[in-house]
Amino acid sequence: MKPMGPIPPDFAEQRGVLAIAGRAAAEWADAGTPLFVYDPAIVAARVRRFRAAFADVDLHYAIKANPLPALLAAIGPLVDGLDVASAGELDRALAVKPPASISFAGPGKRDDELAAAIAAGATLHCESKGEAARTLAIAGRLGIRPRVAARVNPDVELKGSGMKMGGRPSPFGVDADRVPALVRLLIDGGADWRGFHVYAGSQALSAEAVADTQAATVALAARLAEEVGAAPPLVNLGGGFGIPYFAGDLPLDIDAVGMRLAATLAHRPPILAATRFAIELGRWLVAEAGVYLARVVDRKESGGETFLILDGGLHHQLAASGNFGTVVRRNYPLAVAHRMGEPATETASVVGPLCTPLDRLGDRVALPRAEPGDLVAVFLAGAYGATASPSAFLGHPPAAEIVAAR
Ligand SMILES: *Cc1c(COP(=O)(O)O)cnc(C)c1O
Repeated sequence: MKPMGPIPPDFAEQRGVLAIAGRAAAEWADAGTPLFVYDPAIVAARVRRFRAAFADVDLHYAIKANPLPALLAAIGPLVDGLDVASAGELDRALAVKPPASISFAGPGKRDDELAAAIAAGATLHCESKGEAARTLAIAGRLGIRPRVAARVNPDVELKGSGMKMGGRPSPFGVDADRVPALVRLLIDGGADWRGFHVYAGSQALSAEAVADTQAATVALAARLAEEVGAAPPLVNLGGGFGIPYFAGDLPLDIDAVGMRLAATLAHRPPILAATRFAIELGRWLVAEAGVYLARVVDRKESGGETFLILDGGLHHQLAASGNFGTVVRRNYPLAVAHRMGEPATETASVVGPLCTPLDRLGDRVALPRAEPGDLVAVFLAGAYGATASPSAFLGHPPAAEIVAAR
């Protein structure tokens, strides 16, 4: 038997039949399985948690975590900005938020993507000198003053994060020592310089590590601003707030992060006195709001092990199979949907229908017994689910995605 991660708090106390947004899992599944159900009330509660912990800091949603239009429509009004990373995401963001609150980061922005962002009035996060030159040239042709921030490849990294994105050679952003020259190039070229964007990592659960990174980022922004000789209107401090996915993970103490950031900002260097600060979050806002429901198609024994074979798998929920950026495969929280809170009576491996041994959503997990026709819930499916999975692999239909009414 191998441990599972913790069932998220909104579901952990449930007994009997799993309810999502007040409706039984089986009712949601009437529409057909497999499917994702998202509860926007859970996202709204996360936003309130953030607001309580961070006074006077903007909250951005990094939409790559879950760009489903109906979910974006629910989140847009709750947050101060949306961060996108392609022209496709830009279109979705523009449908729910004014352009001035949208920023577009990502290496390898094509000319047509730069043009779309400039024409819309979104803020481009410039990732290289070459991109700066293309941005200015395209803006010149369009006759529009582009809004541009500099994305910094920081000389700090987010310690203990699942995915480190700073403190090393990187395709993302511009090395800190090259940033002042880049910003001067943008300002001299007529751009409306919006400030700095620093993203140092993802999925961090240590408040101390996040707070240290934020403090280092504020110091870095001040140093760069001094070298540029101009005050940045906005500093996007990145995010990296993690959520507990696996056994032993504890939630990030965001109140502690908020207190440390308030102290950091209270003592910030004078050049940042009028600067606004933003935190951009993806998974922390949406992961716990989503449940992936799949039906047991078959159960069988092999070599003394029990296998539950579902109609859903890694083609919809790659992350739960451990094949989306994890070094060691560990189990996401799972449950038999009509036996919440019942004691486990067997150890089973929960697998998907794909012809690959990678398609395993639960490796030797302890569960109450499930029979063909029963529903299995995979929690933490609100982020990096449908759009981060190889849905064309093996030709199964896509999963439905449903946003519960608030
Ligand atoms: C992916 C990404 C995020 C969101 O990361 P989460 O771990 O989902 O919070 C935020 N900012 C940037 C620049 C990203 O690339």
